[in-house]
Amino acid sequence: MWNCFIIVLSLFCITAHSQTEDKSVIIIGSGLSGYAAARRLIENGFTDIKILEALDRTGGRIYSVPFSDGFVDLGAQWCHGQTGNIIYEMTSPHFAFGSTPFETVDPYFRFSDGSLPEQDIYVKLYGEGYKIIHSIDRVTTPNVPFGDLFMQKFNAVLATTTYQNINPEVVKYVKAELVKNVMGFFGANSWNDISPKVNNEEEKAGGDQHCTWKKQGFQTFINYLTKKSPNPSENLNIDAKVILNKKVTNIQYNKDDAAGQVTVNCADGTSYTATHVIVTPSLGYLKAHYKTLFTPALSGPKAVEIESRGVGNLGKFFMKFATPFWVLDNEPFLGIEGMWLDADKQAAIADGREWLLGIVAVYGVESFPDLLEVFLAGDYVGTFENTDTEKVIADITWWLEKFAPYMKPVPRPLAVARTKWMTHEFFLGSYSYPSMAEEQNNVRTSDLAAPIINIDEKPILLFAGEATDSKFPSMAHGAVNSGFRAATEIIEYYQA
Ligand SMILES: Cc1cc2nc3c(=O)[nH]c(=O)nc-3n(C[C@H](O)[C@H](O)[C@H](O)COP(=O)(O)OP(=O)(O)OC[C@H]3O[C@@H](n4cnc5c(N)ncnc54)[C@H](O)[C@@H]3O)c2cc1C
Repeated sequence: MWNCFIIVLSLFCITAHSQTEDKSVIIIGSGLSGYAAARRLIENGFTDIKILEALDRTGGRIYSVPFSDGFVDLGAQWCHGQTGNIIYEMTSPHFAFGSTPFETVDPYFRFSDGSLPEQDIYVKLYGEGYKIIHSIDRVTTPNVPFGDLFMQKFNAVLATTTYQNINPEVVKYVKAELVKNVMGFFGANSWNDISPKVNNEEEKAGGDQHCTWKKQGFQTFINYLTKKSPNPSENLNIDAKVILNKKVTNIQYNKDDAAGQVTVNCADGTSYTATHVIVTPSLGYLKAHYKTLFTPALSGPKAVEIESRGVGNLGKFFMKFATPFWVLDNEPFLGIEGMWLDADKQAAIADGREWLLGIVAVYGVESFPDLLEVFLAGDYVGTFENTDTEKVIADITWWLEKFAPYMKPVPRPLAVARTKWMTHEFFLGSYSYPSMAEEQNNVRTSDLAAPIINIDEKPILLFAGEATDSKFPSMAHGAVNSGFRAATEIIEYYQA
């Protein structure tokens, strides 16, 4: 009986100690993962939460800016998928998404001298390529880069009777378009840096892959995440926990100190302490700073994953015009996939317009009949970011008039909104992708996600952000899931 009492008392003490323990959390970064972590913690009774954000705004790679008669997204633009996508699932009961029908709309090919290739054969071969791209999503073969695997399968298609007499020029140009699109999708700078095997281990939400936020922008979701919407009386007031302009320069932790606090030092000389710190800066930022951001420095598989996983580059800009001069005879505008003839490519480089080589395509924008969107991928994104807006306007005018002479004279846009992610000190890239280095070094997003625990098994340093999600890395919904996961790791410690 006495023994039983002691056991019950000690169990009570452990739980009571845990419940009354100092439970403070610092979240570094106010992107989706940081906000998701804050929401889950608040809903589980945590009150001492600070979100330190280096920028003078919240949202990170969710960046909806006022443009035309609504908002356009300089960061994440589409909700990719419906079933299994936490963003769609949380939002769709309250919000009617739009859709960009990329998957069903034929690409519209044009050469850089303004001539139109025979669309049918281009579209047909491009469709074959896209089927291969989708089939590679499900490949488990080790040690074969995406591009090599693609070419093995593409060459097999070209050897069939349908294509054996095809003009090699058609193959050359269609292949160039497919490479650009793969780079655009993964944000990778080379398709041979992408690992199909690692990619296969990731998942894809089902349903429409291009749900849009119509004129309201991706910021709409943050209102649901923070519970400002649909019922403002349930607002969790997460914004009030954010301290802007707080660039974190060092995080000091001690695994051997059972009761220890983690100290977070900022560039402005201030410092904060907490029992748990959730780290969410982008993989691009971690690659550049992980050796000095943590004391002691990160090591082992976590450091190898930071080095190994890929970070790519995407850019885009929106142009507002008085009239949609790109629409011809009331036909739907299918966008332009521009194919460079070698001489024009050399001329663009010689004329200092080389950033134009990074253009993947030019599209109309769903819900905005007055906008054109230019989408870029790869290394040229950096050149684009370093080109001033006047020159960007002059160069894109040149591009449109060359590839689509029917648009001549292209009017001056009334306004331009443009991205800067690759050269932005707090992002240093667009999003992460499955790389050959990850496959070769046998590391995965889960290695970056693993919390650092102290001798008391307390998770003192936790990692969230899209590049830590094992199901949907790179995506906005992966970022949300990662924030929920990191918060749950803290919550479960106190429930154990
Ligand atoms: C151009 C582009 C297009 C995209 N399109 C889509 C899309 O259509 N659909 C989709 O699902 N996803 C898309 N994504 C990906 C999506 O935006 C991201 O996966 C997601 O927003 C990442 O959220 P996060 O919380 O992981 O990181 P972030 O949003 O990067 O948040 C991290 C935060 O940490 C802050 N920070 C960094 N360093 C420090 C420091 N030292 N101290 C303090 N704070 C710091 C940053 O300022 C930032 O606010 C796109 C991304 C880009 C760039």
